[in-house]
Amino acid sequence: MGPGPSDVHPRVLRAMSTPLVGHLDPSFVEMMDEVQDLLRYAFRTENKWTIPVSGTGSASMEAAVGNLVRPGDTMLVPTNGYFGGRMESMAERAGGEVVHVDAPWGEPLDPADVADAFDEHQPDVFGFVHAETSTGVLQPDVPELTSIAHEHDALVVADTVTSLGGVEFRADEWDVDVAYSGPQKCLSCPPGASPLTLNDEAMSRVLDREEPARSWYLDLSLLEGYWGSDRSYHHTAPITNVYALREALRLVAEEGIEERWARHRHVAGALKAGVEAMGLEMNAADEFWLPSLNAVRVPDGIDDGAVIDYLLDRYDLEIAGGLGDLSGAVWRIGCMGHSARPKNVSYLLSSLADAID
Ligand code: PLP
Repeated sequence: MGPGPSDVHPRVLRAMSTPLVGHLDPSFVEMMDEVQDLLRYAFRTENKWTIPVSGTGSASMEAAVGNLVRPGDTMLVPTNGYFGGRMESMAERAGGEVVHVDAPWGEPLDPADVADAFDEHQPDVFGFVHAETSTGVLQPDVPELTSIAHEHDALVVADTVTSLGGVEFRADEWDVDVAYSGPQKCLSCPPGASPLTLNDEAMSRVLDREEPARSWYLDLSLLEGYWGSDRSYHHTAPITNVYALREALRLVAEEGIEERWARHRHVAGALKAGVEAMGLEMNAADEFWLPSLNAVRVPDGIDDGAVIDYLLDRYDLEIAGGLGDLSGAVWRIGCMGHSARPKNVSYLLSSLADAID
């Protein structure tokens, strides 16, 4: 129950032992179509351009940022968590200028601040983190943020690594141009093939670039050859990870995406209530609570690392400490995908109560 990878469903583990076929085998090409359709379902989008990027969440993140940001472009990134900082590094490596919209770690972005940053800097691209794994904060008001960006002709990139398949996210209805994710959180799939979706406007900006994207491997105009209608070789797809992702996404579709969002809220709600009943405090205010990642403040006088080690040694239970500005200040307790089950929550609560006793 750490910040990911979450427990992998037995059906996904079984899918990973399927014998390999080639990455251009007709049966694999059919599977690619199915994976793309299932990803559209999870992202709540009709985007043609919806693919698993070979690599971890940082690969789909860099595919998004590195293709959209052209040399000389300005990207607006948030400072309210660890992963906004990673977006910034990627935008700079793509040759972009970076400007910031500020909010404290533990709070979401305020749309008024985003609007001010747009008026001041006129960025070409705006990135935000929908579910900040470092702070346990869910960004509300997404449609408001996207409409501010679109009034200024900017494209919006959403990090949904810790929300896709666990927390409500609607790419089309909320007018998000590009969203990326990772499979190892709410999809409960091993890392290795990471979801990405782009609408037509974002993809035309990529295809119209004068200077190619700096990464050959993640250049979406080249990946188009493999994941688009040609199905021609670009690189050898991670076949086993695609098997796994297909099975994980089938589980999402069988459960129903809205039912899955509701399960995460329900099960993580019990976790939150139990932690608060123990006298501990959540890091995020109730309105911004992120069910998939519960950041709990470490009480005074308790050594965060000793509790983490005790839980692992004594109960074989993983939780994690804080990252960046919240290092030493919070525990991060995941409640994601197949890990978001009542029996895990009961076990976590009784083990944690023992650890801090
Ligand atoms: N963005 C967020 C919000 C994350 O939580 C993570 C990983 O935890 C990433 C991006 C990067 O993903 P990965 O570690 O799979 O490369």
